[in-house]
Amino acid sequence: MKHRWIAGALAACLLLAGCGEAQEASAGSAQADAAQAVSKELFAMDTYMTVTAYGENGAQAVDAAQEEIERLDALLSTGSSDSEVSALNAAGTAQLSDDSAALVSRALAISESTGGAFDITVYPLMQAWGFADDAYRVPPDSELAALLARVGSGQLDWDEDSGTLTLGEGQAIDFGGIAKGYTSGRIMALFDEYSVESGMVSLGGNVHVYGAKPDGSRWRVGIQDPADSGEIAGVLEVTDCAVITSGGYERCFEQDGTTYHHILDPSTGRPADSGLASVTIVSADGTLADGLSTALFVMGAAQAVEYWRQHADEFDAVLIADDGTILVTAGIADVFSSDRPFETVAQT
Ligand code: ADP
Ligand code: MG
Repeated sequence: MKHRWIAGALAACLLLAGCGEAQEASAGSAQADAAQAVSKELFAMDTYMTVTAYGENGAQAVDAAQEEIERLDALLSTGSSDSEVSALNAAGTAQLSDDSAALVSRALAISESTGGAFDITVYPLMQAWGFADDAYRVPPDSELAALLARVGSGQLDWDEDSGTLTLGEGQAIDFGGIAKGYTSGRIMALFDEYSVESGMVSLGGNVHVYGAKPDGSRWRVGIQDPADSGEIAGVLEVTDCAVITSGGYERCFEQDGTTYHHILDPSTGRPADSGLASVTIVSADGTLADGLSTALFVMGAAQAVEYWRQHADEFDAVLIADDGTILVTAGIADVFSSDRPFETVAQT
């Protein structure tokens, strides 16, 4: 019997992992051995999630993963007024927990290396467009110009030694572009701790797999067709890595025939309009994969390819353009399959 895991209607990726004869145990209750899967579905970080683990400690590992997801959600959610990030945004300065401090350091590094395409200080813009509270609107140019003056990680004062972050005048931050990748990375660390045989998480379509499938074969992770949520544009067969997709279709609204989505170009203050419909990053580093999926989406194909050529040892990517063109970087070309034509991007 084959199971088909579907991570929810908003999922960017569908995990097509055939689970062999494995049985899905009800949350945390069943005894699991190497052949059994323990799986839990939950809603956190604004999205449907699935955590699955195989092996003797599978049930404990899945429970620990759920606790970790809920802990990080409470800490990092801009949507909750008692989160650490909301307290920071309200006060303008804070000494951060280890998790938030790690996220700030990674976010600043990704921002720097992507020339500001990724920037956690876009939050005032997210609010202006109504993405923070689902009160969607198109802000007037004058408002965007005023808000843009507040955007830029260069205005943050980050004291890494003490973990103290001080925001510039009128600034606010949002870990939405990397929080899920960081979380999936933390779950991989827990899987390690619990010595699970293999496992996977799907956080709203952001997939992170641990090891190979119990039968030794690679996990099959589907990449959603940005033009049709019911279709798969391609499948990646991978082990031990994050497969994280950013797409304009994930959260958007329409006004006067124009679609506005939630990935903002920090240089214009508007939804990125780079010609890319989705970017999937494959990397062992979940935080990096998440940050880069957002950043390369903002950059567009030409710059994204250039960036990959400079950092090919850190990640691979599948870029799907608005016109349906698929580009796959060389490192994953042999594990990517599609019934559509695609082009492999070579190192030089
Ligand atoms: P998703 O959260 O849907 O998986 P992304 O990883 O691309 O998609 O993250 C988008 C989120 O990141 C937005 O909801 C917002 O919170 C934040 N964000 C939007 N634009 C940027 C940007 N240019 N840099 C950093 N974070 C961003
Ligand atoms: Mg993402």
